[in-house]
This record gives sequence, C-alpha cells and structure tokens, in this order.
Amino acid sequence: MIEFESVTKTYPGQTTAVSDFSLVVPSHRTVVLVGSSGSGKSTLLRTVNRMVEPTSGRVLIDDEDVRERDPVALRRSIGYVLQHGGLLPHRSVLDNIATVPVLNGVPKREARTAASELLERVGLDPKVGRRFPGQLSGGQQQRVGVARALAADPNILLMDEPFGAVDPIMRRELQEELLRLQADMHKTIVFVTHDVDEAFLLGDEVVVLREGGVIAQRGTPAEILGA
Ligand code: ADP
Ligand code: ADP
Repeated sequence: MIEFESVTKTYPGQTTAVSDFSLVVPSHRTVVLVGSSGSGKSTLLRTVNRMVEPTSGRVLIDDEDVRERDPVALRRSIGYVLQHGGLLPHRSVLDNIATVPVLNGVPKREARTAASELLERVGLDPKVGRRFPGQLSGGQQQRVGVARALAADPNILLMDEPFGAVDPIMRRELQEELLRLQADMHKTIVFVTHDVDEAFLLGDEVVVLREGGVIAQRGTPAEILGA
C-alpha cells in the first residue's frame, strides 16, 4: 500500500507542482493519475521512489516513510517505466532487463534466464533479447521497459506515460497486455497518463488532477462516469 499524506511540492522558482495531495493506493490495485500536462502527475509519481522529495507531507509504503529507506535500494525495489524506455543503448535487451537483478546479487546466468522468460511474458519473442534497443520498434521498446521494470519482482510499479509515444493501435495492444499481466501479477501500480480513455481502461481507481496537483475528481471508473 502506498499513502500520500498531504504532499506538497514547490520547485525552486515557486512553481507549486503539487498542493496538499492525499491518496491511498491499496495493494494489488492500479490507480491512475490523469490530468493535463503540468498538473503534477510525474512529480507525485517520483515522490514514491524519492526521485522527488516533497516540500512538506510524506509518502509511506506499507506504513513506512520512504525517507527511512536508502534511496538507491528503494529505487531498485520499485519498477519504473517511462515514456521513452530509458533503455541502455549499448547493452542487449537481455542485459538491459537483467541489470537490476544482477546489481541485487542474482547470478548473471540466472538473471538472463529470468529475463528471457520475462520477454515472453510481455509478448516478445525471446530472440529479441539478443538485439539492441535501437533495433526495436517503439512498441517493442516499451514492452522491454515493462519487462525490465518487472525484473526485480517489485511489489510496486510506477508507470509514467509508458505508452504515450506509441501509435494508437500498438498502444491499445500494450494496454490490453498490461491488463492481462496485472490479472496475474497483482502489483500495486501507480499509472500516469494524460489520456482519459487509457485512465478509465486501466484504473481500478482514477484520480483526475488539475494544475498544481490538486485533485479534481476521484473514484472508480464507474463512480466517475456515473457522477
Ligand atoms: P505532469 O507530469 O502532470 O506533466 P509535472 O509533475 O511534470 O506535471 O510538472 C508539474 C509542474 O512542475 C510544471 O509546472 C513543471 O513545469 C514543474 N516542474 C516539474 N519538474 C520540475 C523541476 N525539476 N524543476 C522545476 N519545475 C518543475
Ligand atoms: P458528457 O460527455 O456529455 O459530459 P458522459 O456521460 O459521456 O457525458 O461523460 C461524463 C464524464 O465522463 C465526462 O467528463 C466525460 O469526459 C467522461 N467520460 C465519458 N466517457 C468516457 C470514457 N470512455 N473515457 C473517459 N472519460 C469518459
């Protein structure tokens, strides 16, 4: 479970990106933060893995303040998927996926075998593992990004516009794939998007943000659409 308690973030230069934001993300659920560009979605997401420190308020994971955790260890324990995969260009796909497990002490061969299985789980041919990120389509790269985020078997997945740069048909495939994966995996997911349809498709709960990270509306898709 992730809890945001009165989180406020003001960046130097006085931009208040998030103002007094509180939310509980229950374990094994997908909560989607949806809002237009600049509404504070990424800022909020990054407070969970301490890439952003709140100006005030706090973030708890399973009742523990994230500030109690070593930031590097914390980041390795949380899956993070970005719009532009952030894959290492000079490493094979398999090594990209295996990097964090190896850093965590998993023997290299074991990590590669697991990486190959993960490729299949995200709908890629394991042969893709030998290629380099630049040789893949945008959709394939994002699948690799998801596989990499899952490699350390995190309880939490943070997804920041993961399918935002992919064409609409591929995006729909990736969305369906994530729904299938989540039906098995039951991760605790915070998913950020500016695409309202995507939010309603993927979220067990949807939080609509206004500028300044203020909650405009929240609830299950049914509650919001019925409202
Ligand atoms: P979103 O993800 O919804 O687009 P962000 O969290 O990226 O929103 O940004 C919210 C606001 O904070 C914007 O006004 C943005 O310009 C500002 N902001 C984001 N990151 C930084 C930063 N590192 N330094 C200063 N301002 C920032
Ligand atoms: P209207 O569009 O006339 O406001 P609706 O009942 O269609 O009435 O929608 C109510 C709210 O839910 C609107 O804010 C709309 O943007 C949103 N909404 C409706 N359908 C969807 C959908 N499939 N995905 C996302 N948001 C939706």
